[in-house]
Amino acid sequence: MTREKIETVQGDRVVLLSFTLTDDEGTLLDRTTTEDPLVYLHGHDNLVPGLERALEGRAPGDRIQVTVQPDDGFGPKVDETEHILPRDAFPDDVELEPGFELALEEDGEEIPLWVVKFDDAQVVCSTNHPFAGKTLRFDVEVLRVREATQDELDHGHPHGIDGSEAHEHED
Ligand code: ZN
Repeated sequence: MTREKIETVQGDRVVLLSFTLTDDEGTLLDRTTTEDPLVYLHGHDNLVPGLERALEGRAPGDRIQVTVQPDDGFGPKVDETEHILPRDAFPDDVELEPGFELALEEDGEEIPLWVVKFDDAQVVCSTNHPFAGKTLRFDVEVLRVREATQDELDHGHPHGIDGSEAHEHED
């Protein structure tokens, strides 16, 4: 089989990946599992820029190591503003955990926040993404590449592994 016949990673294709993410000290930050690979739509800012660039043109079976500096990752650490929210501002069925992302509306602007810690009374959030300021080391394997459906292109994200996953949209 020649490489030309293999589906390669390029814009508007849905890509399945497995990855392990560590920081530059080797601390494990995140990883996929066999049952739960990462699915993303290439060229639609679903991934941090440094990783997406490195995946361009790759094919299923390719395994790459990529080092991503903060500017190409989750950005530098910004001046931290801690936001403390009451625990009961969150619905009971929301499973809070450190790193949980939410948006706070302030003066008509949406500010992204990430949960740092919480207890029964309050939730402490930061304006920094948990991986902000970190040099990221991805060990990535491309598992599969397929064409995106029109719905996926319209939405700018994949609908599951085979494109048929139903989900609800707020917008
Ligand atoms: Zn969608």
